[in-house]
Amino acid sequence: MSNTDVRVRFAPSPTGYLHVGGLRTALYNYAFAKANNGKFILRIEDTDQNRYVEGAVENLINTLGWAGLQYDEGPEKGGDFGPYFQSERLDIYKRYADELIAKGKAYYAFDTPERLQQLREEQMEKKLQPKYDKFALSLSKEEVHAKLEAGEPHVVRLNVEPGPKVIIDDIVRGKVEFDRDVIDDQILIKSDGFPTYHLANVVDDHLMGVTHVIRGEEWLSSTHKHVLLYEYLGWDLPRFAHLPLLLNSDRSKLSKRQGDVAVESYREKGYLPEALNNFVALLGWSFGDNTEFFNMQQFIDSFTLEKVHKAGAIFNIEKLNWLSAEHLRSRSADEILILLREEIEKSKYNNDELSDDYLKLIIEAMRERVSFAFEYLQKSPYFFEEVSSYDEDVIKKRWKAETPDHMSALADAFEKMDNPGDKHDYESVLRATAESLGVGAGKLIHPVRVATSGMGTGPGVFDLLYILGKEKVVERIRKAVDSIKIG
Ligand code: GLU
Repeated sequence: MSNTDVRVRFAPSPTGYLHVGGLRTALYNYAFAKANNGKFILRIEDTDQNRYVEGAVENLINTLGWAGLQYDEGPEKGGDFGPYFQSERLDIYKRYADELIAKGKAYYAFDTPERLQQLREEQMEKKLQPKYDKFALSLSKEEVHAKLEAGEPHVVRLNVEPGPKVIIDDIVRGKVEFDRDVIDDQILIKSDGFPTYHLANVVDDHLMGVTHVIRGEEWLSSTHKHVLLYEYLGWDLPRFAHLPLLLNSDRSKLSKRQGDVAVESYREKGYLPEALNNFVALLGWSFGDNTEFFNMQQFIDSFTLEKVHKAGAIFNIEKLNWLSAEHLRSRSADEILILLREEIEKSKYNNDELSDDYLKLIIEAMRERVSFAFEYLQKSPYFFEEVSSYDEDVIKKRWKAETPDHMSALADAFEKMDNPGDKHDYESVLRATAESLGVGAGKLIHPVRVATSGMGTGPGVFDLLYILGKEKVVERIRKAVDSIKIG
């Protein structure tokens, strides 16, 4: 097979939101397609009528778009293998169910729920694995025909016949074997006429030319049924690659109960898509060295299915936070400016009053101190509003009896400055003032920081002063001198 033939798919059921495990599946499929010059398909598996959620598909497409995982074929985009919604392909599944029935590889079954329940209980009592007993196969052709004519509720079941073990040659898991005699006669068409996941999935993967089925490990236990369907339909198997489970730190299966699993909620919290992708990429795969911080292209260049791990991957939120900060810091000031303007838009501050140049100075000064764009506002509000209170602990430690005089002298000196051109101008004035007062520079540096920002920490103090500008600095120092009272 030439590389250009690679076709992979992400096949979510639209349940309302995109799970981080789903993002990982989509990401690995996307990277595999890109790495092999193949096609990445989005297929919506919406045959479960009970699980329909309004707006789920739009949400899913939007979230994939946010993550930058553009698909080559799928809803809205189209393609030669559509429709890409399973609910629009019902006649196709019916056709293949009919073909299986004609070949004796599937059959109609008319059992009532009560009979199935009773069968199950009897088998459990005998400590047998619950499994359909092929009762429907004892019906004659005429009986089946009559029941169908009479509109009796029915399903179509796979007719699992004796034979050699079913072997799945999984790229991640290696060879996984199943005895045929433990495989249940899986329902292929439900009584509502809709196909089950198994039939629809296999038919679509075949018709859509999928070469590699890359999905979560929870589907491994269904794969032997799929392999049988391929066999009975006379189709070539795709390659399978089952991705390891995602685990909480206590090694339980990643669940909503222990934290967020929806990609949307990470997006809302301000995580960058490249950070989440980087993090999710590491859930079950690694470069092979200690590299943890990378961008999408580096991931694509290095991704192979052979490098996917077998062991469950632990979801470590600290690592996500670290990556988030690293990715934000590696964005250019212009890119961060866009994010910051979005945050300002959501806040009580006004974008129109803030120039790009001013915001870019803040971005550079705070770059190493923020992990999220919203933290520019949270950690340095003094760039956006007046100082209305002063950190009490800092005052206690830094604001001495002589400080008001020192600060007044400093404000006078700053006031006399002629167009300060950069932070060094503030530094030399402050140092000269300290010298003339006969004190160390530290005696002025700490108080002037709290006077102008209300806080004890922040960017370099001379950056702070330069960004605020002479007028504000002088005004804030004088206000602090008037309002800070020490006991
Ligand atoms: N519809 C299944 C899901 O929701 C797809 C599993 C598969 O990729 O085969 O995850």
